[in-house]
Amino acid sequence: MSGLEDPSDDLKVTAPKKWATGAPAVAHALQYSLSQTSPRRTALTLLNLNQGKGIDCPGCAWPDPDPKHRPMNEYCENGAKHVNDEATSKRITAEFFRQHSVSELDEKSDYWLNQQGRLTEPVIKRSDSDFYEPIGWDDALDLLAEELRSLDSPNEALFYTSGRLNNEAAFLLQLFARAYGTNNLPDCSNMCHESSGSAMMETLGTGKGSVSLDDLHHSDLIFVIGQNPGTNHPRMLTALERAKHNGGEVVAVNPLPEAGLMRFKNPQKVRGVLGKGTTIADQFLQIRPGGDLALFKALNLLLLEAEDAAPGTVLDHEFIRAHTTGFEEFARQARELSWDAVHAATGLTREEIEQVRDRVLASNSVIACWAMGLTQQKHGVATIREIVSFLMLRGNIGKPGAGVCPVRGHSNVQGDRTMGIWERVPQSFLDSIEREFGFTPPQEHGWDSVDSIRAMLDGRARFFLGVAGNFVRATPDSEVTEKAMRQCRLTAHISTKLNRSHTVCGETALILPTLGRSDRDVQRGVEQFVTVEDSMSMVHASYGRLEPASGSLLSEVAILSRLARRVLGEDDGIPWEEFEGDYDAIRDRISRVVPDFEDFNRRVADPAGFRLPNPVNSGDFRTDSGKAVFSSNDFEWLDAPDGYLVLQSLRSHDQWNTIPYANDDRYRGIHNARRVVMVNPADLEELGIADRALVDLVSVWHDGVERRATDFRVVAYPAARGSAAAYYPETNVLVPLDSVADTSNTPTSKGVIVRLEPASGQR
Ligand code: SF4
Repeated sequence: MSGLEDPSDDLKVTAPKKWATGAPAVAHALQYSLSQTSPRRTALTLLNLNQGKGIDCPGCAWPDPDPKHRPMNEYCENGAKHVNDEATSKRITAEFFRQHSVSELDEKSDYWLNQQGRLTEPVIKRSDSDFYEPIGWDDALDLLAEELRSLDSPNEALFYTSGRLNNEAAFLLQLFARAYGTNNLPDCSNMCHESSGSAMMETLGTGKGSVSLDDLHHSDLIFVIGQNPGTNHPRMLTALERAKHNGGEVVAVNPLPEAGLMRFKNPQKVRGVLGKGTTIADQFLQIRPGGDLALFKALNLLLLEAEDAAPGTVLDHEFIRAHTTGFEEFARQARELSWDAVHAATGLTREEIEQVRDRVLASNSVIACWAMGLTQQKHGVATIREIVSFLMLRGNIGKPGAGVCPVRGHSNVQGDRTMGIWERVPQSFLDSIEREFGFTPPQEHGWDSVDSIRAMLDGRARFFLGVAGNFVRATPDSEVTEKAMRQCRLTAHISTKLNRSHTVCGETALILPTLGRSDRDVQRGVEQFVTVEDSMSMVHASYGRLEPASGSLLSEVAILSRLARRVLGEDDGIPWEEFEGDYDAIRDRISRVVPDFEDFNRRVADPAGFRLPNPVNSGDFRTDSGKAVFSSNDFEWLDAPDGYLVLQSLRSHDQWNTIPYANDDRYRGIHNARRVVMVNPADLEELGIADRALVDLVSVWHDGVERRATDFRVVAYPAARGSAAAYYPETNVLVPLDSVADTSNTPTSKGVIVRLEPASGQR
């Protein structure tokens, strides 16, 4: 696999932190920021981050509070690090590519690649060369267009997107792909919240969360499930703190006792800096990975039994009768549960789960928040369906302080879907495109990320355009994925910085450098802004504030518009040139195509932006029956054989998506190393493995292929019994391409059965 680092023998381990944020987070954010750029640029980014007419943080999709009540420093450690990672003063020039061959770059770590700075001019790796070399924009786009026109079918092309892409560019990308003739629009959602969308579409008729920040602030009880907000959406802790101060409670469900789930020291408050901070979880359920379906089945049974004991007092019969279907069958199946099976699946006791039931019974409003701990499991969709049923039993959908809250990690991943980046976009969206632009989009579904890899492997796809993101590192089964990418005739990436997807490339490869979210974007002398949609369906503007990293950068909108004109010709009826020169013109078209975006330009001029309505909040369930659906889900869990553990891959605290910002994981007490595997001391004893032993992780899968991640240091850690945790992308190699969640096709990166063997080099 590309870019392996040496086993880190400098590993230092300290006690895991019991609280998140506080003054150290501010210090670390500043330290990293100033290691990247000048104090002046740091100040400029931070003063503008998440402010009205400022830069929307590209870090994650957590929403901003109302601008009237928004403090000056409305960002977190990771947001500050990320925006300044983009604002770095370091530059990659033609000289850099003359000095480093692609093969050499491929040996470098992901950290090293990212640290080289911003890309400044388009480069090409020709089929007979091992070096990238400069190429002019016109030549680069001509070559891309020629390649696209030469394919036997438009479906041989893949157009991948990550959640960094803004709404305007996302709308143009899907429009271009469909006008060209394909729905092959895989995106990073396929790897993260696809399971949430699948489960909620089936049960509620919407793929999006239903709650607002205000709901969170005023909820009686908030579940935080399979999620590590202290690292992945740190400002969520401010919202949880506020809920706690309003009298709400939090139940955290996770295999690791993450610092941010335990206690939060708000750096914007004196008591947060000097005092003890706020306890977050009133109850922590240390669950085995993949045990959440069993947990919610158990809770649902307990609620039904509570209703039996006191009829008419527990369930919301009015909601169930008026708004749902499937209750009888759901209730019948729920009563078949075995508590022994629940204990085996979750590692939790009945008493712990009964305590949670009591909290639920004492609450008039309940929110369930979740992230990858649920979605990246084989039965992730079933688990989320079960959570929807759990909420519906007491009418916790569509009322204040209650609802579903899938917390998204990438800043505009939800907006990109809204704009039509979806290989299975609804027919109504395709019909709107046809009405507005006068062409018939392709009707058959395209390929998602996993199917795109399969298509590259067997030669059905030969062209890959990645607009933002790092496909090679975001996807499973690294050796297989790398082979797939290398088999493409042409790969091209529209990127701000160097990453692994540039070194694992097709026969011919292009890197097309683009503006970052923080860069000023001027078209025809007029400053442009872009828009994004956060995890709670708020749409708002983002303005670049920095001088671009180079005069040769083009915006994503400009690159896509120019490419489209070359591929489709000037007479395709789509005003690409106008789009490039004036983003208002794109938003006008979005208004006419995308539901709920009427009068987009006027509404987005409000610094607060606007909230897209979620139909479930007005009792409108857009399922086949017109009602919300109680589902009946088979009992499933991850049963690792003796001698095996259930591995979850995760981010370190000092990491942004696929990119490490340091070889540390500050909150978990891991320093100077990433190739570590965290295992409960009792499991290590049973397995006869010593703390700090050097091991290989070997995953088992029924295809008989041995997948091995070599040279990991064992760290005794308070992980759930029977589980292990290690960082991705280093462990992606262990996730079989075919190991995916039912229905959603999401790789099961949080549920890989592994054994630990002495490192190959030591045997
Ligand atoms: S919580 Fe997310 S969006 Fe907010 S500042 Fe942090 S990384 Fe950025």
